[in-house]
Amino acid sequence: MAVADRNTRTARRPDEPDLAAVRLWKDALDHLRVRINREGFDTWLAVTDVRSLSASAIELEVPNSFFADWITQHYLGEIRAVLRELVGRDLSVSFRARDAADARALRRGRAAVPNPPRNGTGRLRTRYTFDCFVVGESNRFACAAARSVAEHPGATYNPLFIYGGVGLGKTHLVHAIGNHALSLRPELRVYYVPAETFFLELIRAIEKNTRLDFKSKYRALDLLLMDDVHYLVGKERLQEEVFHIFNTLHDSGSQIVFTCDRPPKEIPTLEERLASRLGSGLVVDIGPPDLEMRIAILKQKAAREEQELPHDVALYIASRVKSNIRELEGSLVRLLALSSLTDRPLSVELAEETLKDLLAQVPSVTPDAVIEAAAKSWGVTAADIRSNRRTQQLALARQVAMYLIRKNLGLSLKEIGLCFGGKDHTTVMHAVDKVERLRIEDEPFAARLRKLDSGISRGQAVS
Ligand code: ADP
Ligand code: MG
Repeated sequence: MAVADRNTRTARRPDEPDLAAVRLWKDALDHLRVRINREGFDTWLAVTDVRSLSASAIELEVPNSFFADWITQHYLGEIRAVLRELVGRDLSVSFRARDAADARALRRGRAAVPNPPRNGTGRLRTRYTFDCFVVGESNRFACAAARSVAEHPGATYNPLFIYGGVGLGKTHLVHAIGNHALSLRPELRVYYVPAETFFLELIRAIEKNTRLDFKSKYRALDLLLMDDVHYLVGKERLQEEVFHIFNTLHDSGSQIVFTCDRPPKEIPTLEERLASRLGSGLVVDIGPPDLEMRIAILKQKAAREEQELPHDVALYIASRVKSNIRELEGSLVRLLALSSLTDRPLSVELAEETLKDLLAQVPSVTPDAVIEAAAKSWGVTAADIRSNRRTQQLALARQVAMYLIRKNLGLSLKEIGLCFGGKDHTTVMHAVDKVERLRIEDEPFAARLRKLDSGISRGQAVS
């Protein structure tokens, strides 16, 4: 392939990757950026560089060997798939750690090292406030609890544990707590941290022998907002660290807020540890927004862009994009862009055009269709999948179907259990985690899953 051939021909300074290699890796990163969650990409992949490229192998440079291990465990499958797409064959991927000086420079310059909280500024996103958080049935309780915590941190519900599906406003809400608390008491030390970043900070502290600084930074906080703690599932060591910090903060009257994609009892080890503390806390959930709320969100977002969204247009979009507020926003952004680019007014007709691709897929995918598709791909029948039989192949096909329903339809674990003859939500959770793990560890499995998944999202799985 041209990319690699050129690499062997081009004269270059020793130890400097040639242009083709750099370009290939840049393209690969562009592809990976959309396939991997943002936090993961920014933390682990954005800091990589290419070292060398040959016809059959690519060598990547990473800050240290820990990155190499982590990337190998979690992202190697995706990296190899993307490279295969770009160069048309398999490349073996290896890693080289930068030397210590480089690594330090890199950390200073590019890696996402969170700043220690200074006068409470933390890493809060100022645009996520209560003022622009639309309240409806599905989030009323969560929002009230969040306000109360922002107004009296440490005094009411501690910890506050907010859980709910993807794109329903958890991150928005915790930032709103931080922003509001600071507007009332600017001297507060507030810190927002996604659980994955917390983990990375911890690893760095261990590497640099600065564990004590790390601990004292956290222990000095008045309000700790820890996002996406489902990241802690299966990471007991990390849970322990979180638990210790949490304990110290709690004892000194500081407030902690957690967000998660599932209730605490579905992270059993964490729950056990937090159990006595959760007694003094509050667990609230955020559900999918109803139609009225979806319309209100669209209108509010349009107004913030100084556009007036006609009611029939808002109704049209809101009745079609249902499960996820992030997608709702995305649809509106596309509509506003199309309207301004083509100089056409905001109308139902334009909305229809904007959502054409999206809607071609969305309504056609049903749980039954996914089960059919998974059954076909694994050579079993849909009735087998819904049954209680448990051969190895059948169990895997069933787990894959559960995973894909969760991913494509965003149903709750309980709802998914119902699609499978009333299986328990913990069975579904176990299935989703297992498939996710296999996807990372087992490339042939990942490829099969991708093929099935893209068939489903193109609507080919309609039964
Ligand atoms: P999560 O963290 O639950 O995945 P986010 O907080 O990132 O979801 O929300 C996704 C997007 O939807 C964000 O841009 C957020 O501002 C917006 N959003 C979510 N809930 C609301 C709401 N109730 N009102 C207005 N915007 C919302
Ligand atoms: Mg979030």
